[in-house]
Amino acid sequence: MQTQLLIDGRLIAGEGPEDPILDPASGERIAAVAAASPAQVDAAVAAAERAFGSWSATPPRDRAARLLEIAAHIEAHGQAYAEIEARNTGKPLAAVLADEIPAIADVFRFFAGACRIPQGTAAGEYQSGCTSLLRRDPVGVVAAIAPWNYPLMMAAWKLAPPIAAGCTIVLKPSEQTPLTALMLAQALAQLLPAGVANVVCGRGEAVGARLAAHPRVRMISLTGDVSTGQKVLTAAAGNLKRTHLELGGKAPVLVLDDADLEQVVAGVRTFGFYNAGQDCTAACRLYAGARIHDRLVADLTQAVGTIKVGAQREAGVEMGPLISHAQRERVAGFVERASTLAHLEITTGGRARPGGGFFFEPTVIAGARQTDEIVQREVFGPVISITRFTDPEEAIAMANDSEYGLASSVWTRDVSQAMRVASRLQYGVTWINTHFCTVSEMPHGGFKRSGYGKDLSALALEDYTVARHVMVKL
Ligand code: NAD
Repeated sequence: MQTQLLIDGRLIAGEGPEDPILDPASGERIAAVAAASPAQVDAAVAAAERAFGSWSATPPRDRAARLLEIAAHIEAHGQAYAEIEARNTGKPLAAVLADEIPAIADVFRFFAGACRIPQGTAAGEYQSGCTSLLRRDPVGVVAAIAPWNYPLMMAAWKLAPPIAAGCTIVLKPSEQTPLTALMLAQALAQLLPAGVANVVCGRGEAVGARLAAHPRVRMISLTGDVSTGQKVLTAAAGNLKRTHLELGGKAPVLVLDDADLEQVVAGVRTFGFYNAGQDCTAACRLYAGARIHDRLVADLTQAVGTIKVGAQREAGVEMGPLISHAQRERVAGFVERASTLAHLEITTGGRARPGGGFFFEPTVIAGARQTDEIVQREVFGPVISITRFTDPEEAIAMANDSEYGLASSVWTRDVSQAMRVASRLQYGVTWINTHFCTVSEMPHGGFKRSGYGKDLSALALEDYTVARHVMVKL
């Protein structure tokens, strides 16, 4: 297993403390990765700074060619990447292979194309005798910090747009799930000029914090918890870094009375429990119209009870364990506190699975009230709540009554009603009669405490550039 860091085009062992890497399905240790020392973090930033001059001057066509090679590499080694990803995260191997690997390759391909389409090229005479040009130039050295829930996917979202834009980068994967990013690092040592992409491992409070506060880093891009976003923002103030924050979520799912019940049940069964609910867009906070409510609770309870939970390679497995013992304790804490409230009913699940690994049963909690913790706070686990509403206005108000603003969905057969509700929701994405579908062409990102900045789409490319005015006196 590749456990070395990538600094200035060379693979090199970390000189900092070691983090054990676990298989969440068994709790067993599968590797150990040594963190970057402070000097190694500085060396990675210095390498990125040295590489910036020539990479930012490399024509988009040539940058694109490298990104296409990375995409081809990921596809060619899809099976190997998927096996390591599944091992390190506990996810069903089949799902990683079918859902994640093709989407990851597509992200590199999309940005290869996107960087060749000129943006911000408006030119004209806005003052007589002068021609103005609007340029979009790369920001400089970017540091990117990724979470554990989709390690290789997050690495792709963090690497592809800045590299396409002409920036150079230092990526820090999560200390819990660095293995696929390190495997990619080995390939990047061959596929990119030295220093363009560097990968350093280690804990947030050491390596992450050093990057966030680093005086030579011009922009920091984080996907992680809201509290981590606040720390990164504070650290970034030192040299007024640009920040790009993709933080938590608590996605409302508005099920109107005329919705196709079967479609809703199948959708929530999938999109509420995919990746064991460890997804910032997970369909976890249901609001059901009074007429559909009871049937939804009954049918969803039945359907969620049939989700096959198991280890990565078990036949037909649909849901794996949580990432860690600590995460399972956190999820169990939410469910235990909910179980003490008389108005709430746990209709299925609700317990940790005995034995090895960090498994937690897929759980449905009915009778939830808007002020309940289970409705207001992000659980990041296989737990959904259902709250009844009497008219769509009330549902919209409750959906928007949240500190988060990342993802939402509306389920109805009435397209006009769907559009009316969608226009009122304060979320970065609203799906209609589906949930949780990202495409490379469309932006992903939120507002309120879910952060700001976009991953994916041409808007992500724009986030890694600065608009510049050049004026020529004729
Ligand atoms: P986390 O915030 O604990 O860690 C994320 C990354 O930040 C890790 O690499 C960690 O080492 C680093 N970090 C931690 N403290 C730091 C500090 N003080 N300075 C710099 N870096 C630091 O989050 P997590 O537990 O890995 O992931 C789960 C969270 O991520 C959830 O809240 C989830 O909603 C969020 N998430 C958001 C999105 C999105 O697109 N909005 C996507 C996936 C996950």
